[in-house]
Amino acid sequence: MAFNEHWDGKQVILIILAHPDDPEFFCGATIARWTEAGHDVHYLIFTKGDKGSNDPEMTPDKLMQVRVEEQRAAADVLKVKTVEYLEKMDGYIEADLETRKEIVQYIRKIKPQIVLTCDPANTFSRDGYINHPDHRSVGQQVIDAIFPATGNQLFFPELYNKGLKAHTVKELWLSIPQDANTVIDVTKTWPLKLMALEKHISQIGNGIDMKKRMNKRYVIEGGVHKPRYEEKFKRIVLR
Ligand SMILES: [Zn+2]
Repeated sequence: MAFNEHWDGKQVILIILAHPDDPEFFCGATIARWTEAGHDVHYLIFTKGDKGSNDPEMTPDKLMQVRVEEQRAAADVLKVKTVEYLEKMDGYIEADLETRKEIVQYIRKIKPQIVLTCDPANTFSRDGYINHPDHRSVGQQVIDAIFPATGNQLFFPELYNKGLKAHTVKELWLSIPQDANTVIDVTKTWPLKLMALEKHISQIGNGIDMKKRMNKRYVIEGGVHKPRYEEKFKRIVLR
């Protein structure tokens, strides 16, 4: 049976991830489901993906410009309201207090009920794959920002003085989780996820191989003739 979020009215949802294309790859079909249901979704992305190329002609500056445009186009497919960046360097993300303050500042500005990030506990994203250290670092930093700093105005008092009051996040969702506790049936919005992914041309080329690969990820019981697609999360309802 399809999982229902059981949210009371329209929610503000903030997706905080490391690289352009992470939102679409990790949870694009769920984002489409949420915006179709009328919720407001915003992105905060740590980097502009300046290492995402093996082309010897490509420079980091050119790549960042391309990837920002691709990310905006992908976000438009999923009807995401805003896309902001923390201007960190791809591949070099490390936790520090300045970054924690930037995350707290952004959460207090957007005031989301729901924050979605990566699961820092997941070192191996799939069999045979190491989960990118940026993904794990961002997940840990977002969790550490949400508690206790975001909801306590004594943290970073300069933010309070700028009018950014303490804000309490209600739910934390972790994508690519080590131990999923929430499975979303995203069969209906799967085509939108693929359409959004196709906008990341610098990463996936013409998209034909990507689509073939992604379309094979249906749930076995659904079978090839009636494919069913899922995205999995660890969902923590904060008390
Ligand atoms: Zn990534």
